Amino acid sequence: MTDFRLRPWWRVWLASGIAAAVVFTLLPYGWLSVAVSTAISVGSCALMIAGARAHGPASRNMWYLFAGGIALWAVGDLVYAWFALIQQSVSYPSLADALYLSAYPLLTVALFRLTRERGAARSGNVIDSAIIGVAVGIVYWTFLIEPVMTDRSMSPAARLVAAGNLTVGVLLCAVIAPILLRRGSRTASLWLLTAGSAITLLCNVVYALLPTVFAEGSQLVFGGYLMAYALFAAAALHPSMSRPVLADGDSLGRGRLVVLTASMLLVPAILLVQGENDGGGRLSWGAVALGSMALFVLVATRMSGYIARVDSQARQLRELAMCDDLTGLPNRRDLERRAATAVGEGTCHLVMIDLAGFKHINDRLGRAVGDQALVAVAGRLRECVREGDVVARMGADEFAVLVCDTLPGDGDAVSARLTEMLRHPVHAGEHELLLNARLGVAEATGDIGATELVRRADTARYAAKASGGQLVNYSAELDERAEAAERLGADLRHSLDDGDFRVVYQPIVELRDARVAAVEALVRWEHPVRGPVSPAAFIPVAEDNGLIVELGEWVMRTACRQFATWGRELGDRAPQYVSVNVSARQLNEPGFPDVVAGILADAGVHPNALLVEVTETALFAGRTAVEAVETLHRSGIRIALDDFGTGHSSLGLLRTVPVDVLKVDKSFVDEITPGRRAVIVDALIHVSNGLGLRAVAEGVETADQAAYLRELGYEYAQGYHFGRPVPNPFVETTARV
Ligand code: C2E
Ligand code: MG
Ligand code: MG
Repeated sequence: MTDFRLRPWWRVWLASGIAAAVVFTLLPYGWLSVAVSTAISVGSCALMIAGARAHGPASRNMWYLFAGGIALWAVGDLVYAWFALIQQSVSYPSLADALYLSAYPLLTVALFRLTRERGAARSGNVIDSAIIGVAVGIVYWTFLIEPVMTDRSMSPAARLVAAGNLTVGVLLCAVIAPILLRRGSRTASLWLLTAGSAITLLCNVVYALLPTVFAEGSQLVFGGYLMAYALFAAAALHPSMSRPVLADGDSLGRGRLVVLTASMLLVPAILLVQGENDGGGRLSWGAVALGSMALFVLVATRMSGYIARVDSQARQLRELAMCDDLTGLPNRRDLERRAATAVGEGTCHLVMIDLAGFKHINDRLGRAVGDQALVAVAGRLRECVREGDVVARMGADEFAVLVCDTLPGDGDAVSARLTEMLRHPVHAGEHELLLNARLGVAEATGDIGATELVRRADTARYAAKASGGQLVNYSAELDERAEAAERLGADLRHSLDDGDFRVVYQPIVELRDARVAAVEALVRWEHPVRGPVSPAAFIPVAEDNGLIVELGEWVMRTACRQFATWGRELGDRAPQYVSVNVSARQLNEPGFPDVVAGILADAGVHPNALLVEVTETALFAGRTAVEAVETLHRSGIRIALDDFGTGHSSLGLLRTVPVDVLKVDKSFVDEITPGRRAVIVDALIHVSNGLGLRAVAEGVETADQAAYLRELGYEYAQGYHFGRPVPNPFVETTARV
């Protein structure tokens, strides 16, 4: 059986079947022609069954029905031959006519079912066929069937058979016309069925409508039918026979539209023709009226089907446009729409949530885990809210919760609940992930619109992110701060171009003898209008808008050049190294270590003489920063952890990141007051000695502090007590800054 699938049997059969049909048309009617036609019809039947069994489609029964129809025809032919060639008399109608007629229902049902998609599209296909059937039926009825039915010269049985033959013609037309007019790509099997159907329809039209042509070439018409059998059987043999349907469903193609319109116009056309011919009296008004009513109902039904489908597709599109694919939550657009309604109805709160650590989950564990984490967060947020509140996904790692109909305290309660929920790790596959969520909350009090509400919540969220806090409530002050930062950012840009920056150097001394061992480079901004601006005010802004990359590079270049100059000018009084602050943004800049290497090479400074100061927080920002530090360290540059003890303060960091120097923050040195033990500076000297690091105490302001630190075992310190940051600490007369 598998042979049917492997070998192109259908081609062999098609060629021989068509050749046999052609031979049939050339033969006069006799035993030989009957033998040829029987061979074709029986062969078609048998191959159709064999094909159906070999390919085993779901529609196998329909192929059997098809074969049954052809078998009835073959038997009809034999019966006819028996009358014509043995009995030498053929009565009309005869048993052969009954057999021919009874084959049509089987053929049309099978053809219909085989060429149409199942399911929802079927009703549309049935209606299309019904519309064509009714329209052609009215024409046939008016011009052919009714005249035959009322022809008293024929016997009632003859009239019945003649009318039956015409009726099956209508049936065939209704089933076949849509197959011929459908668009879309056809499988080979469907092409064969289409070709067979076209020939069948043509033969039927000649037979029914052109009696003179038929009388001339009846053998040609019968040959046509036989050729159609061969094509149908080849369709059953082709491997694509399991799905000979077109994939276009019941879409309203141009072809269909033309046919349906033409069908609708047939009735008025009949009225016109009959009216012009003054044959109105012969018109069967009842049939035409009933037929056209049926047509209207069918077309209306068809159109309502389309309208329903367009409606449902529009609904689906709307849903798609308003919904986030991954989490199924409403998206930004939908949230804004709902916020507009909620704001109009009364007080509501909007919480914007940003997952600060999410980018690294994606980078480290891959998108699939990231997606799972987002879905888990979505589920958790949904658990936190009441029905009627909205949880939405605003972007990659941003969510929003709209709490509707709130009382004054509700906003705080919900955001506290959300904060608490998000503090617990979420499960993504086998991972347990802690997502560092930042929340910004805004309240709509009736006088602001949805856009403003979203903006305010966003502003609060940015503020939470910038301050490192977890939750910030919106206040007008945040806007003022944001605006001030923006203006400052713009001024920074101008000043970078105009050269308003300077670098000053603060000595780092050996506590033993107060000798300057090194210097820390610190940037100064002298704005023409603002005056001197503190780095504490502008460095965070420059980090935020990225200008720190350019500024930091300039500081490092200036510091290295200055260091080289001191080396040449001061001899053994020259500092051993220069310390330069580097921000997280710089470390995350691709190629940063190369930039540093270039600067050192340009200035002619050995990597050993450069100390890069980074903060714990910068190293926690992600893998890239740590990798940059590792690369710098490998090239010989030393690394200091600045403000140690004020950031994330993970002692584990001292093991995983190559650190050479601990800069103990000023706040711990400040604890050194007479008569009090400064616990942390005490502890930290042990930590740094234990790990083999150099400790530098920052912000030493008094001689007592210096003495105390020295007693604890500190060897290096820095602070106003030893020297303020100045343009050149090695020149006695330098003005203090
Ligand atoms: P930092 O790196 O911890 O620098 C030490 C800061 O403490 C400096 O403030 C210095 O002037 C100040 N200081 C030193 N000794 C004393 C003291 O005895 N008492 C007091 N009250 N303060 C003292 P400055 O220059 O205002 O810089 C502040 C921060 O700005 C720096 O902290 C550093 O984090 C950042 N910064 C400064 N320059 C740069 C730079 O070029 N690049 C980057 N990325 N950050 C810089
Ligand atoms: Mg520093
Ligand atoms: Mg510091």
